[in-house]
Amino acid sequence: MFVLGIGLVGLAAALYVFPPADSRPRGSMEDVLAFRDRDDTNVLFILVDTLRADRLSTYGYERDTSPNLDALAETGIRFARHVSQSSWTKCSMASLWTSVYPARNGVLRTQHVVPSEAQMPAEIFREAGLRTAGIWRNGWIAANFGFAQGFEVYQKPPPATLPRAKRREHPHLTLAGSDADIVRSALAFLRAHGHERWFLYVHLMDVHQYVSSEDEAIFGTGYSDIYDNSIRWVDRLIGELIDELEARGLRERTLVVFASDHGEAFGEHGGEGHARNVYGEVTETPWILGFPFRIDPGIVVRERSENVDLWPTVLELVGLPPRPDVDGRSLVSSIAAAARGEETRADDELAFAQLDQTWGQTARRPQPQLAVNRGKWRLIYPQAHPERSELYDKTLDPREQRDLVDANPQVAAQLVAIADTHLENREPPWGSEAPTVEIDEQQLEQLRALGYGVE
Ligand SMILES: [Zn+2]
Repeated sequence: MFVLGIGLVGLAAALYVFPPADSRPRGSMEDVLAFRDRDDTNVLFILVDTLRADRLSTYGYERDTSPNLDALAETGIRFARHVSQSSWTKCSMASLWTSVYPARNGVLRTQHVVPSEAQMPAEIFREAGLRTAGIWRNGWIAANFGFAQGFEVYQKPPPATLPRAKRREHPHLTLAGSDADIVRSALAFLRAHGHERWFLYVHLMDVHQYVSSEDEAIFGTGYSDIYDNSIRWVDRLIGELIDELEARGLRERTLVVFASDHGEAFGEHGGEGHARNVYGEVTETPWILGFPFRIDPGIVVRERSENVDLWPTVLELVGLPPRPDVDGRSLVSSIAAAARGEETRADDELAFAQLDQTWGQTARRPQPQLAVNRGKWRLIYPQAHPERSELYDKTLDPREQRDLVDANPQVAAQLVAIADTHLENREPPWGSEAPTVEIDEQQLEQLRALGYGVE
């Protein structure tokens, strides 16, 4: 964990010229539904690694961490009760991209690979004639884990070279780089291909690494404050990317999709970080859609949503056919209902998050922990130790502090049965098990450098 000083401010200043005003026309739910008929649209997918929803102002946080994301949500669509499918990047991203739950797609451990038979969204966009590029800095989504499928360019950008004095001041910076490198690469892509149709994926990593610039380090110096500083910094970079779309006249052709792969713990259940369990603080993430037009007021979807729903929804919005037999569902009709002011949440709505708690220990047996959301209830279920299950009432206890399993044995038993059925369903739409890959020592070292205990 480190805070970057003036070096990054200089980089950001170099990228940042003058913020253009939001030139988008006003739009409505009719425009959202008519979007699929257009043949000139782009998709920009921004993923901020390790971002819990409740640290964004637009999700109710008292600190002003995210002015640019707030503006996107307040003129677009925000999913208020959203769940990611794991608390570990690789497992979560495999589920997000395939729209298939972790138990079923089988990408659960260090060596697992997204199989080539899985139909990835970048493949669909490329077949539809879009230029495709993915720019990332997290080794868990490297090409040898199957995440490059469909991308013409899939690259980790080289860190910016700084003046010698700055390199001496911040020796780690040239090694590690920052998300400013990703934005710089994204701008280069837009310069080269902005005039064509494109799908651009940027996977930002500075929140995971607690990186910020001096300008954004406004919330304090505690562990949790530094996390907020880094959100503010990454939000600024996102603002620069969106401003560039404006400056190039591309905003009125671009759907912006914003999400995260998991959250981050600050001692709520004893530990810090992520990829250890599936409590709310590590699995409740944001999902925001921004259109080429301003929706005023923005639409808030309060029905339960999950990262597996993201691509089924976006594919329908842009008029591309759905993938057969995936777990996620398109929420376009839920968005339309929310726009009409209708309440669509149901008492039996389900959501799942999963982590193999021995994912990084190749010699140990799998140990799945599953979270089941059903209506107001949330079960935390370590399958090997069902007696350690926990049950929370999310309405009364959103932070999952008061275990009600003894007071509500029937509810717990129902959810355990749902959990066992969910974990037994291991047949993916593409039919084959997740293959494995040998990871060389250099890649292992890079993954350990992110703070993961990998054997
Ligand atoms: Zn992650």
